[in-house]
Amino acid sequence: EGAVNRIAAGEVVERPASAVKELVENALDARATRVTVDIADGGRTLIRVTDDGHGIEAADLPLALSRHATSKIDGSDLLNIHSFGFRGEALASLGAVGRLTVTSRTAGAAEGATIRVSGGRMDPPRPAALRGGTVVELRDLFHATPARLKFLKSERSEGMAVADAIRRLAMAEPAVAFTLRDVSDGGERVLFRADGSDAAGRLALVLGRDFIRNAMPLDAARDGFHLGGHAGLPTFSRGNAVHQYLFVNGRPVRDRMLTGALRGAYSDVLAKDRHAVAALFLTCDPVLVDVNVHPAKTEVRFRDAGLVRGLIVSGLRHALAEAGH
Ligand code: ADP
Ligand code: MG
Repeated sequence: EGAVNRIAAGEVVERPASAVKELVENALDARATRVTVDIADGGRTLIRVTDDGHGIEAADLPLALSRHATSKIDGSDLLNIHSFGFRGEALASLGAVGRLTVTSRTAGAAEGATIRVSGGRMDPPRPAALRGGTVVELRDLFHATPARLKFLKSERSEGMAVADAIRRLAMAEPAVAFTLRDVSDGGERVLFRADGSDAAGRLALVLGRDFIRNAMPLDAARDGFHLGGHAGLPTFSRGNAVHQYLFVNGRPVRDRMLTGALRGAYSDVLAKDRHAVAALFLTCDPVLVDVNVHPAKTEVRFRDAGLVRGLIVSGLRHALAEAGH
């Protein structure tokens, strides 16, 4: 079971940022209004996610940390997924690749409870002091798998990838307050902070007020798909694609087809080495898209990719034409 867990774990957890993404998604699924992420050494020695969500019952803690344990589907609504997580693999995977401690307290509970897993071995839950919500702490990621450890980049770039993951989730959930802190060497340096806001406020916070002044609002629809969000004017382009935020039904995704469509839309107005800044929100009936292509869930597969690409290219080109480009 330990070895099996470690294999599955590699699929879900490639680096600190993927662990952070899973843990923050769990916090969001638990209806948290405030999520705080602390990392040390780029997330390699410590990732701690604190939320004020509904918590986990003490009796359910061992199950939550087991493989294929999810409280989020009942089998009948696999296609109609509204929560972020639905595979029940993340916590078990994290417990297989690092030292994992989950402390939680539900609203009705007299006290909190904590449980620890290391190397896939679980201790029974113990009572713990906590006001409410959940704290998940992952220490020494990949300590038992030096080969994976070797593939991690510098602390700085792992930390940047964590910040990137947080920005994407923060953009997806504007009403939730997010804080990301670097607590390396006993310090406490705020890397990202966002108070709960509306979509426009969150967009301005993540991409800057200048972006709003230099962006085109999008509103296009075709055959059950809708494209919303904002795309930057060509004059506001960047030398890299870091600030391209893509969402499908409210989830952050990374998808070559979508990125390609974005690039294609600007091909006449941007030089090859320039990249548009954009936050694109694509929505559709969940049956038209498969978000479960890869365990890390950032790739998507559309039933009709050509249709989606066409919508993005024409929606953006229309907006560019309106703006005089
Ligand atoms: P999934 O999210 O796919 O269900 P996970 O392994 O990520 O699987 O989590 C397992 C279960 O643990 C979840 O279904 C949920 O019931 C519980 N859980 C995990 N994190 C939290 C959290 N932050 N708050 C409340 N419940 C949580
Ligand atoms: Mg999850």
